[in-house]
Amino acid sequence: MEDWVSIGYLFSAALFIFGLKKLGHPRTAPFGNQLGALGMFVAVITTVLSMHLEGGAEWILIIAGMFIGSAIGYWMAVRVEMTGMPELVALFNGFGGAASALVALSEVTKYIHDDSTLPSGLELTVTMVAAGLSALVGWMTLTGSLLAMYKLKGGINVFGKWLRTPTWGPPWLNPVKISLMLGVFILIFMSVEDPTNTQYLWAIIGISCLLGIILVLPIGGADMPVVVSLLNSLSGIAAAFTGFIIGNSVLIIAGSLVGASGLILTFIMCKAMNRTLPDVLFKSFGGTEKQTLTRTKVGSDAEEVAMMVDGAQKIIIVPGYGMAVSQCQHQVKEFADLVGEKFDTEVRYAIHPVAGRMPGHMNVLLAEANVPYEQLIEMEEINSEFPECDIAIVIGANDTCNPAARSGEGPLAGMPIIDADKARTVVIIKRSLSVGYAGVDNDLFYEDKTMMLFGDGKKMMNELNSAIKDL
Ligand code: NDP
Repeated sequence: MEDWVSIGYLFSAALFIFGLKKLGHPRTAPFGNQLGALGMFVAVITTVLSMHLEGGAEWILIIAGMFIGSAIGYWMAVRVEMTGMPELVALFNGFGGAASALVALSEVTKYIHDDSTLPSGLELTVTMVAAGLSALVGWMTLTGSLLAMYKLKGGINVFGKWLRTPTWGPPWLNPVKISLMLGVFILIFMSVEDPTNTQYLWAIIGISCLLGIILVLPIGGADMPVVVSLLNSLSGIAAAFTGFIIGNSVLIIAGSLVGASGLILTFIMCKAMNRTLPDVLFKSFGGTEKQTLTRTKVGSDAEEVAMMVDGAQKIIIVPGYGMAVSQCQHQVKEFADLVGEKFDTEVRYAIHPVAGRMPGHMNVLLAEANVPYEQLIEMEEINSEFPECDIAIVIGANDTCNPAARSGEGPLAGMPIIDADKARTVVIIKRSLSVGYAGVDNDLFYEDKTMMLFGDGKKMMNELNSAIKDL
């Protein structure tokens, strides 16, 4: 490799590493993101220049590809609603996996069409094993991510059931998954023996696509965050394998960084859900259909809640997915400022690690509204404060404060929750009594100390703030 290419790759790898470091804190995350994007730009330009393209046609092809890819990426990023981010992330994971697998495929088909380019000995073994693993992980990531995206959207499957809950996970599925995985390893071994035979490659691709679907199909409800971060990690691992095949060091580094950080996130999510990774992957949790609601509860109004707030010394806000849907984070911040100034009330925010639809969803929204980071308290730390809290205000959260998780049964079984039910009074802002993502009815709504403020989050927060100003 020429010196300037090595320096270009080294520079972009350093930018990735510094970018990742900056992503560790919400305040520095936007800068970290920009550093990562710059690193990718340097890597792409270095790669293109190192190819020593000749002739206008090759340049036109590369520039057109870069232009179309950038335009689509920009259009999708600008267009996406904050609530659609998790689906977009799932889609990008899938595209990342597929892109790596396609590059690996094109490299291997080169040998098939021209066996004079075929490496020999150990190099051949490493190339074919890396190509097989890249195909396995890449195609599995594509189909798994597309299904995850569909599940996050809450799509309906062919049986007319909601896909976001685990609708199909018969006991024989696990032996099938393991057999298919073993089958892929045998095919990889056979492709090393006979590298010019395309049949093995197509069989690996077909089985990997199937594996992606049957791995994600039985997982649902509250376990989806684990799957999304695992798929993110897999897309990085596929890129690292492809880096091996084409001998591109920056692809190996970038892929390993994505793979490792995705895996760390996966374990953080597992811890948050109180599950092990094998449990998530091989056990589908029950409660396959949305529960039908039979109970009723009379709603309160903003004036009544404002009267309660007047006199409260400590309020804990519990944000959830509904805050993201209604985009009421600015009204929530206004509420905290108002009660702080008017009643000298202490306000804190309880952050559940899987609240919303993507890791850090609540932190991002509240940071956008300039809520001080010191007020955002992680679940484990704040739970002990609820018994001394006068009012817990739950804004669009449901599963993450559903006491059913403590029962040991159903899709939420064992998931640690925000102990909002231990506060002296609970105010819940949501549009109806309907269930959250995991489809489990929430007893907290029906407790005597709970006041339901029915309506869209933004509308109700505006009404509440006006009522407080009028006091
Ligand atoms: P939930 O999904 O449990 O509940 C959200 C609630 O918000 C709903 O019950 C809904 O009730 C309410 N809501 C929706 N729109 C509005 C609105 N405009 N105004 C007010 N309320 C609204 O949210 P949580 O944050 O508590 O839990 C997150 C769930 O998502 C967990 O099960 C988690 O496992 C899962 N998940 C998380 C991911 C992550 O990475 N964080 C990824 C994938 C899944 P109503 O319709 O009555 O208004």
